[in-house]
Amino acid sequence: MMRFVSFSSGSCGNCYLLLGPRSGILIDAGVGIRRVKKELEALHLGFDHLSAILVTHDHGDHIRSLGSFCKRLTLPVWTTPTLHEALLRHPFTRDWIGPCRQDLQADIWNPVTEDFDVQYFVVPHDATQCVGFAIRCGEELFVLMTDLGHTTPQALEWASLATTVVVESNYDLEMLLGGDYPQVLKDRISHGIGHLSNDACAQAIQQFLHPGLRNIFLCHLSGNNNTPELAYASARAALDEAGVGPGAIALRVLRRGVASPLLTL
Ligand SMILES: [Zn+2]
Ligand SMILES: [Zn+2]
Repeated sequence: MMRFVSFSSGSCGNCYLLLGPRSGILIDAGVGIRRVKKELEALHLGFDHLSAILVTHDHGDHIRSLGSFCKRLTLPVWTTPTLHEALLRHPFTRDWIGPCRQDLQADIWNPVTEDFDVQYFVVPHDATQCVGFAIRCGEELFVLMTDLGHTTPQALEWASLATTVVVESNYDLEMLLGGDYPQVLKDRISHGIGHLSNDACAQAIQQFLHPGLRNIFLCHLSGNNNTPELAYASARAALDEAGVGPGAIALRVLRRGVASPLLTL
């Protein structure tokens, strides 16, 4: 059995917790350690429920507090060798990451905690490198893909095996193009190595949809170029079009700056 909570999702900070029967992993550390402590306490949990940290990439909204977590808790931090080299140089992490470093190996199940085995896949994004995760716990497969300019065959393949998928639904194209971001930023977001639009997310959902899928969580919504209602409606329409009724798959939007309930997957 797995449980999941999002402490925050989006450019304001990303931090998720996945709990197994005996261990928990934090995915990204873009939320302050004191806030995570408070959120854990509200769920009658504590830092002793954290056994490891996974890192998707080296943008501030994903690693802002990673140094504090390393300094305070000295948990193993698992990511790719390429990203670890970047974290060893990054001002947010360089003083504290060394003793926590654990390299994920490619194309094998990495035993990250006693409950969780992890494989990573590279996704296109304008960071040093950015990865999605396939996380196995017993019969369950949790797949997370965030901060990706477009989907890849490998990402879709993992998602098409998953029981739960967390997928980015970053922006509504009309809001982005009609909004007041400078053109260079609009291009950065929408041209393949930035973020996934609601439309691209909806298309991905139709591609990875399969009978074993129970949960889809939409993550990393833009604060300026999206709304939870638009993201939800777009994904919901994709499911309806594929003949999947509201009861068959739980569809949920993960909010910016606000914790989700503790969800049993
Ligand atoms: Zn991000
Ligand atoms: Zn990013």
